[in-house]
Amino acid sequence: MKFYSLGNTTSHVDFKTATLKGQAEDKGLYFPATIPVLPSHFFQQIESYSKEEIAFTVMKSYLENVLPPKVLQNILDETINFKFPLVPVTGNIFSLELFHGPTMAFKDVGARFMSRCLRYFAENLTKKITVLVATSGDTGGAVAHGFYEVEGVEVVILYPSGKVSSVQELQLTTLGKNIFALEVDGNFDDCQQLVKQAFSDKDLNEKLILTSANSINVARWLPQQLYYFFAYQQWNDKTNPPVFSVPSGNFGNVAAGLLAYKSGLPVSKFIAACNENDVVPRFLKTGNYEPKKAIATLSNAMDVGDPSNFIRILELFEKDYEQLKNILVSYVISDVETKEAIKQVYKQYNYLMDPHGAVGFAALEKYIQQHTQQKGIFLETAHHLKFYELIEKIIEKNIHSDQIEKLLKKNKSSVLMKADYQIIKEFLLSK
Ligand SMILES: *Cc1c(COP(=O)(O)O)cnc(C)c1O
Repeated sequence: MKFYSLGNTTSHVDFKTATLKGQAEDKGLYFPATIPVLPSHFFQQIESYSKEEIAFTVMKSYLENVLPPKVLQNILDETINFKFPLVPVTGNIFSLELFHGPTMAFKDVGARFMSRCLRYFAENLTKKITVLVATSGDTGGAVAHGFYEVEGVEVVILYPSGKVSSVQELQLTTLGKNIFALEVDGNFDDCQQLVKQAFSDKDLNEKLILTSANSINVARWLPQQLYYFFAYQQWNDKTNPPVFSVPSGNFGNVAAGLLAYKSGLPVSKFIAACNENDVVPRFLKTGNYEPKKAIATLSNAMDVGDPSNFIRILELFEKDYEQLKNILVSYVISDVETKEAIKQVYKQYNYLMDPHGAVGFAALEKYIQQHTQQKGIFLETAHHLKFYELIEKIIEKNIHSDQIEKLLKKNKSSVLMKADYQIIKEFLLSK
């Protein structure tokens, strides 16, 4: 399979090049040249397959001629070696729990897949690969854990000092070995700016193989479609396909769901569940795409004012606005509604949601009120314990667990730095 850039050039590259580069030279995102359509018997018999078999069937055409089948199967087995349960919450709403991986967030799947692909590619390279990533919270931890002890790859994470949650910070600063955390005296935009500068620094790129593990990387994006196949496998009412409600920020996850749909997965509707960062909901209403500065909300991993992956959704539908509107709807959920959903669902159904999943739940509930025959799934993208301080306030109860206590006892190890490119560059060259 070849990938082309959504920028203005027409050159095609394979999966390996797309992964190592992250982004095309024209700054466009990579996109698969063809969307594989899976045979109908695969969907009819999906309950008889293991999740490893499903993963291989879905992913194989993207990596043909790049990874030998055996290698791909091993990588996938390692990537998904935890559960993805579909849990009933109300009579017609189910939670797809995507937080059973090592950092308790759905980004583990993409990070684990990408790291293992790089490990394989690194074997044939003479220089070490350095993965450079800026994080505002969850990405850093998932990438750090995904690449931990992966041979031939070093990871440098830039995060804004004092601006990530305590659990998030510990997840990215307590590993050591091939993982380096740089605590930048600045905000997330400063970190992202430094990373961009490093990627465009010719001198640095001659000395190191520098790659990004941000969510636009195809190796992080493509495996996310597996969630939707795993959900469908566990869906009882196959004659009445599910509505998927996806808590969305950069729109990689819902774009992956739409990719699965284009490959033949039966779905009634996708809901892009947004917090008050409402660029896409406004686009679906008006047809105008107007990026805005991000606003801070309780679901902070979704605070994005110009979602990078939205362009992939447009490409999937050949920029046909009407066709897209038939399958994708969108709701905006405020912080007040998010808190209310967490409280209500806990009280009434004894199920605890994190603020991101709660946005998904609230959007799905609104949709079902208008379409009472439908049943749906919201993607629970993080474990509520990652946000325990907030949840404890909302439900007025202590929920501290051993898992969190263990993490809070670990010692953070990071290098505090000014937001100055020369200092970062010297650090990268000195390792
Ligand atoms: C990253 C993230 C999201 C948003 O996913 P996108 O693919 O960027 O839309 C939602 N929830 C959690 C917990 C996240 O970490």
